[in-house]
Amino acid sequence: MSKDWNTRTKLVHEGIRRSQYNEVSEAIFLTQGFVYESAEQAEARFIEIGDDEFIYARYGNPTVRMFEERIAALEGAEDAFATASGMAAVNAALTSLLKAGDHVVSSRALFGSCLYILEEILTRYGVEVTFVDGTDLDAWKAAIRDDTKAVFFETMSNPTLEIIDIAAVTELAHAKGALVVADNVFATPIFSRAVELGVDLVVYSTTKHIDGQGRCLGGVVLGSKELIRKKVEPYLKHTGGALSPFNAWVMLKGMDTLDLRVRASADGALKLAKALDGHAKLSRVIHPSLPSHPQAELASRQMGSGGTMLALDVKGGKDAAFRVLNALEIWTISNNLGDSKSIVTHPATTTHQRLSDEQRATLGITDGLIRLSVGLEDADDLLKDLTTALDQA
Ligand SMILES: *Cc1c(COP(=O)(O)O)cnc(C)c1O
Repeated sequence: MSKDWNTRTKLVHEGIRRSQYNEVSEAIFLTQGFVYESAEQAEARFIEIGDDEFIYARYGNPTVRMFEERIAALEGAEDAFATASGMAAVNAALTSLLKAGDHVVSSRALFGSCLYILEEILTRYGVEVTFVDGTDLDAWKAAIRDDTKAVFFETMSNPTLEIIDIAAVTELAHAKGALVVADNVFATPIFSRAVELGVDLVVYSTTKHIDGQGRCLGGVVLGSKELIRKKVEPYLKHTGGALSPFNAWVMLKGMDTLDLRVRASADGALKLAKALDGHAKLSRVIHPSLPSHPQAELASRQMGSGGTMLALDVKGGKDAAFRVLNALEIWTISNNLGDSKSIVTHPATTTHQRLSDEQRATLGITDGLIRLSVGLEDADDLLKDLTTALDQA
């Protein structure tokens, strides 16, 4: 299916299925079911479903399929299954591979709901989970055992932007026969080489950069045809995590501009990080392209970019951080990311509130830490807004 096209061409043209009307823009097939021409055709379709055949929207839908094929082509994956949200994708990727008695190793720095699935849900069904510092290869090596069935990590962690060495962790996992599942949201599909580096199932919340305009929830699991069709699809089609055709259409249109948007945001993030580095009101500026980032070399090698996010540690803790947030005019206080609007988050009191003080300390989530998702506004305006607000810290 995938042609020898470069990224921007794939993002606009891959996966298109035209109806008998030859529409230019991708059609929304807002239908839950499909009509058969005969009883024999219905029977045949339930025995084996062809590439351009559909039964029921929980199993597949032409608009959803267009989105799956487009992102699979972009990522260089054989196949994909789209889901109702990023968390449905994470849950399906892990649950479809695991059973009671299995062992999983996961990095500790995780999105709150990912942590909940590993810590609370999987363990309830008899899966043993070991958490490690994802940046410590010796810790991975010590934790991955002969009976380890899966390894999980976020390729760039939230909110402190630690980078996992995908190739090295994947090699350790595969040496013990474990499959690798990676949540690649912060790295974005534009700077991703996860499939090429050997990840077995790559997961995205498409709610983030792929929609990128704050409209819809969505997710996707990408991998080999074997894993997607034999493990992920049966789990999802029977448990009901399907993406709505309308949301799939929004995601398709989001992909048209994905490369342009992500690169513009990443340019803005780098500019802000450089300009704010060493600011008198900040004890730390975290961005993977700054020389002070412990894994700057890895980020450059693995992603070729520092991504669209940065984090600032405001001197003076929570009160100072809140004063900065409240003084901002362009930046919006929210918890989404990868949006065209620049967003600021105070992780300690929102996304990471559930964690204990100790857990937050281990992850470097201080009371002064603010996370920034850089949008599409003019970077000079964003910087001016931030420096003016920092005067209030
Ligand atoms: C947002 C996010 C998710 C969850 O995605 P939803 O679409 O909100 O369900 C999972 N992982 C990471 C890293 C995220 O940022």
